Amino acid sequence: MIKLHDKYFKPYLSAAQIQGTVQDMAKRIAADYQDKVPIFVGVLNGSFMFVSDFLKAYPHPCEVSFVKLSSYQGLTSTGIVETLLDLPENIEGRSVIILEDIIDTGRTLQQLVHLFTKTNVGEFKIASLFYKSEVYNGEYAIDYFGKEIPDHFIVGYGLDYKEQGRNLKEIYQLNEKHMINLVLFGKPGAGKGTQAEFLRKKYNLKHISTGDVFRYNIKNGTDLGKLAKSYMDKGDLVPDEVTIKMLEDEVDNNPDADGFIFDGFPRTAAQAQALDNFLESKDMQVDATIALEANDEVLMERLLERGKVSGRSDDQDVEKIKNRFEEYQTKTAPVREYYEEQNKFYSVDGIGSIEDITQRLTKVIEDL
Ligand code: AMP
Repeated sequence: MIKLHDKYFKPYLSAAQIQGTVQDMAKRIAADYQDKVPIFVGVLNGSFMFVSDFLKAYPHPCEVSFVKLSSYQGLTSTGIVETLLDLPENIEGRSVIILEDIIDTGRTLQQLVHLFTKTNVGEFKIASLFYKSEVYNGEYAIDYFGKEIPDHFIVGYGLDYKEQGRNLKEIYQLNEKHMINLVLFGKPGAGKGTQAEFLRKKYNLKHISTGDVFRYNIKNGTDLGKLAKSYMDKGDLVPDEVTIKMLEDEVDNNPDADGFIFDGFPRTAAQAQALDNFLESKDMQVDATIALEANDEVLMERLLERGKVSGRSDDQDVEKIKNRFEEYQTKTAPVREYYEEQNKFYSVDGIGSIEDITQRLTKVIEDL
């Protein structure tokens, strides 16, 4: 995987595969043009590597020239095509073969054809190394193409993402599913919910608090809520199978998220294992588990304060809070080891101003 600007790209075609395709195209065109001296016209900037390799593989006399148009801005075609470098001279009566790196919507091609129809060129053909048949508007016949490819954004071998990646010998494909998935870890009252809100906005993530989802279900009197209530009221953990299923549903209901913040989950080693299995099945993973650390006295004080305004019964009773700490100690603490073994565990001092703690968290994430 490589990173260009803000995006990740995964290997798609090796240098050898590309060379094979280029050689094959050169052979096919050479067979059709052995009695003529064609002018190959490369379309800059993207085609420079292709043109170079193509010409080296072309066995007969030929000429070469370039035009330059501009249409891509970032990842999507803007549809605006400008001519930055004009046609070669003296093309009257000659055979011109356009060499494009890639044809997708066909907008650039339309502009090219338009340029040449104003001339008295003898014969005009289009050759493209790559061709996205799914999106091509089909206006003109593509006379030669190297490889038909699906409609994914690619870089390398002359093709760029915001001008980077042209120097790569291979072709890479945009990794659409690059996400940041974070587990916020810590005892009740550690500030997970507060910090999750900042991280959610900053990284455009979906925040899933299992406690919040349970409370929502209790409020709405759902079966899940009725089931969870008896456990939550005492400060006990809700059984794993119930919680895991609920968490999976939450993830499945947000297929467009750029990533998730898991807050209050996993709370047992079994939940951690289930989360890994589930994410793996979706080609996802936990990138980091970040623990907010604070001692029990501070936490007890914070929870009792919160209980005055939140209305949460489990925040208003010292015994219930103690039970939640105990549940943490016996069942949740092993989750730390689980992530430490995977080198994904990060500890952050959870005492200080909200802004300071946000900064500590951001630093961990930026360094990932
Ligand atoms: P929280 O809002 O995270 O403090 O969670 C409140 C309560 O919801 C906990 O005391 C548990 O009863 C229940 N709960 C929340 N998350 C989980 C979880 N991952 N596993 C089991 N029970 C949970």
